[in-house]
Amino acid sequence: MNSSRRQFLARTAASAAVIAGGATFTTGNAQASGRRRVTALTHVTVIDVATGRRHRDQTVLIVGDRITGVGRHLPIPRGAVELDLTGKFVIPGLADMHVHSIGDERVSPPLYLANGVTTVREMAGTNPLLYQWRDRIAAGTLLGPRMMVGSNIIDGDPTLWDPNLIQVIVVDDGPSARAAVRRVKAEGADFVKVYSRLSPTAYAAILDEARRTGLTVHGHGPDQLTTKQVSNAGQRSIEHIHSLGLAVSTREADVRRMVRDITVSAGDYNSWFRQLHPIEWIAANTFSRARAADVFGTLRRNRTRVTPTLTMHNVLDQPDYSALDPALAKYLSADAVFSYEYAIDTLYKPNRPAEEIARQRRMWAWRKRFVRELFDHDVPILAGTDTGTPYSVPGFALHDELEHLVSAGATPRQALYAATVEPAQFLGMRADLGSVEPRKVADLVVLDADPLTDIRNTRRIHTVVTRGRVISPTARQRMLAEVEAAVKEPPTAGTIAAGGCC
Ligand SMILES: [Zn+2]
Repeated sequence: MNSSRRQFLARTAASAAVIAGGATFTTGNAQASGRRRVTALTHVTVIDVATGRRHRDQTVLIVGDRITGVGRHLPIPRGAVELDLTGKFVIPGLADMHVHSIGDERVSPPLYLANGVTTVREMAGTNPLLYQWRDRIAAGTLLGPRMMVGSNIIDGDPTLWDPNLIQVIVVDDGPSARAAVRRVKAEGADFVKVYSRLSPTAYAAILDEARRTGLTVHGHGPDQLTTKQVSNAGQRSIEHIHSLGLAVSTREADVRRMVRDITVSAGDYNSWFRQLHPIEWIAANTFSRARAADVFGTLRRNRTRVTPTLTMHNVLDQPDYSALDPALAKYLSADAVFSYEYAIDTLYKPNRPAEEIARQRRMWAWRKRFVRELFDHDVPILAGTDTGTPYSVPGFALHDELEHLVSAGATPRQALYAATVEPAQFLGMRADLGSVEPRKVADLVVLDADPLTDIRNTRRIHTVVTRGRVISPTARQRMLAEVEAAVKEPPTAGTIAAGGCC
């Protein structure tokens, strides 16, 4: 086990102890407080996401932060709070494996939990607040999902990022790349986040230094490397479909050369998108089953996870898209909406003739076809939304992603797997997370309807349990109302701006 994993587990364990001893959170139930708080969920259907089996009329016993028993007609200990969940379904807590949290601590953390998202992978530690949230949640002093927080983005020179939007770490050779890894380790990152414009030399140095310091590497596939090179180098996850889509073309050598020839001036993300998209278009129209079998076989054997982030692609493939779900707008501050519109207006929309926009809209169908191929080849998939990109709303977006995965061709069970079992394995926490079984952490979502028959039923949330703490229907409604009130207040020093990409 590497040291960042040890620190992560130590924080998780510490938090479990504190939360088990706390229990002052308003659950809406007359819930017993104290070290041995016991809750019994009764008459509930337990969904086993790994097998797709439904176990009906079960009792789930929770003591402190752990599940201690699951079965039919289990004896209920004296003093337990019994929740009769006849007609309901329980699944493991959900993970959004690609987020960039926004707003202050009164916004993103409760929005995740209210949506049944009990674990998030924060993909770029661009703001020190994120590490503070992670540690406070782990210590039990802030209510929120378990957070794994990546380093600040490490990109090549020139970087895609405008320093007025985000200050990323720019490296142009081996020594600067190694120094960057040591720096993010000292800053408390759980993993290294790599980006699109890294040179092969800097990239190799990052992978090597990360191995030495005990950090894993997650992020974009750099333009200068093939997908197989990235997977074989030991990068643990590849985010988005941008670089991956190029790997499965009959013209892979051509498109790869074209991508290597992309030049951008510092901070000109728009130019990168506009140069990349025509190359993606060529790749999309020259899909090769043989290339897919080769590349996806490599990803599968190396257990390189892919996070398709269809929620992000859905919006950004349609750069004239400007709708924000009106039912969810109340959970975004005016500042967040402004940032989303600013990102669309500066990163995606400019300099695009109508023909290019029309072509890009058709890329959306290709993204979904690509994801279906990933599932067909058993590539391990992580459900991730890229929350923080337009127009996503923390927590709610994960349900959009599950629906996108199913519309791409996954079964509801496969989509749920990508948000439960696969993240648990990826984080090395299979003993603690990913199923409703004795000895696991009690991270659970109770649903009003069966998610295996219709994935949209994951939105029908009745109760959420986070590390044994029950968020009742009433408490959940109150949490959402509090977010709605909080986003109307002026931003504080503890506010994280919406970033724009990826
Ligand atoms: Zn992202």
